[in-house]
Order: sequence, then C-alpha cells, then structure tokens
Amino acid sequence: MSARDAVGAGEADPGRGSRRRERIRANLAELRERVDAACAAAGRSPDDVTIIAVTKTFPASDVRILAELGVADVGENRDQEAAPKAAECADLGLSWHFVGQLQTNKARSVARYAHMVHSLDRPRLAAALGARARTEGREVGCLVQIDLDPASEAGALGPRGGADPRDALAVADAVAAEEGLALAGVMAVAPRGGDPEEAFARLNAVAAEVRDRYPRAKAVSAGMSADLEAAVARGATHLRVGTALLDDRGPNVG
Ligand SMILES: *Cc1c(COP(=O)(O)O)cnc(C)c1O
Repeated sequence: MSARDAVGAGEADPGRGSRRRERIRANLAELRERVDAACAAAGRSPDDVTIIAVTKTFPASDVRILAELGVADVGENRDQEAAPKAAECADLGLSWHFVGQLQTNKARSVARYAHMVHSLDRPRLAAALGARARTEGREVGCLVQIDLDPASEAGALGPRGGADPRDALAVADAVAAEEGLALAGVMAVAPRGGDPEEAFARLNAVAAEVRDRYPRAKAVSAGMSADLEAAVARGATHLRVGTALLDDRGPNVG
C-alpha cells in the first residue's frame, strides 16, 4: 500500500505531527515578537510578562509540542477537558492555569492539578477551593476575577463571570483567609466591543488596590490573542493566549 493509500484508509499521517510542530513554533516566534514589541513600547521587560498557552479544545499532543518549545504555562477553561489533559501531561512539569468559570462542585477536581485559578470571583468559591486544596495537601494560587463590563452594573450580567470591582477586596480577603490558597493578584477579560486599553486601565486600578492590602498579590492576568498589546500597556503580567498560538478553534467554542 502506498503512503497515499494509507492516509486515505484513515491511518496516521506521519507528516502531520512535524507540520503541527512547525506551525506552533512559527506562531510562538511571532507571538514572542509581538510581546517583545509591546513591552518595548511600554518600557517594560519581557521577563515580567508570562505567556500562558490556552490549550482548550486542542489535544494533549499540542501541549507536548508547546512544552518542547519552552512554554511552561498552559491554561484551560473546562474541568472536564482539563483534568484528563493535565493527567496525560503530568510528566511535562507544566504549570496549569484554570481560566474558565468555576462551579464549586468542580473545586475538588481543579484543586488536584491547578497551580493557579484565574477565575476566583466569590467568597463561597474561595471556601470550597481552600477546603479541597487542604485535603489534597496542595497550595493553589488564586487571582480575583474582575468583571469589567459596565453593562453588568445594569444587571445584564455577561456569561464570563467575575466580581464587581467594588467587591474585589472582599473576595481577596476571602482568598487570603484560606489556608491552601495563595492570593496572587487579579484577572479580567476585556468586555466585547469596548476599548480594551480603557478596560485594562480600570483593572490596573483594582490591582493596585488589592496590592495595597496584599503586597505579594502582584499578578495581573489580562490580554488574549486580540488585545495583548493593550494589556501589556496597562501592566499585565500574564497573557492568556490561545488562537495566536494554536490557530482557530472553529465556531461556537471558547
Ligand atoms: C479562550 C480563552 C483565552 C484565549 O483566547 P484567545 O482569543 O484564543 O487568545 C483567554 N482567556 C480566557 C478566559 C479564555 O477562555
């Protein structure tokens, strides 16, 4: 059977893995250039900005490629997908970031593999995650997720979660009170359709407030593929990048 027949018969395409690897390598190089340029424009050091590869909807084989290319931080937004992927990649020594909305009944699972939860947005979740982290004998870093969408104030709560900026300190207090959790900073997603730099400036103000009370909570997780320059300009320390690294997830996902 020729190679072409083998592919036609649905067998593995032997070139696929290396093509994927080259694609991700090129994307990563381009992304690092973007981050370097954004840092230069903001007068910041690229060493102060961590790239988190958001691997949701992509297979564990992509996580493995990213690890080989020197990426140390990966992000996921659904526990059902993240838990098996983290287990499959346990040998890679990566830091796992949970960036999606988190139900308290998933706290037990997430506490097993997550190094950082970016979506801590209510005291009850801090209590649940803290209890599970202690049971697992682990310390889980937490970012207080802030809802930056002004529409939420009018009661039209978006699907993305996050605490009202006025409640940020109360949520931070709840995290800080939990043994097993380490308050690490704040996180936000820029509202759709708005000016991301304006939104990230508001996040920066909340970050300063939290840092005032908790000086070690220095992380600011902001910026995705489309708006990372604005995030770097406004003090982001962690960028959560999916499509710019791994290409489109297709419609209806994410
Ligand atoms: C998917 C996701 C990202 C990555 O978004 P891209 O536009 O693919 O870079 C970042 N943050 C969160 C919370 C996400 O769910």
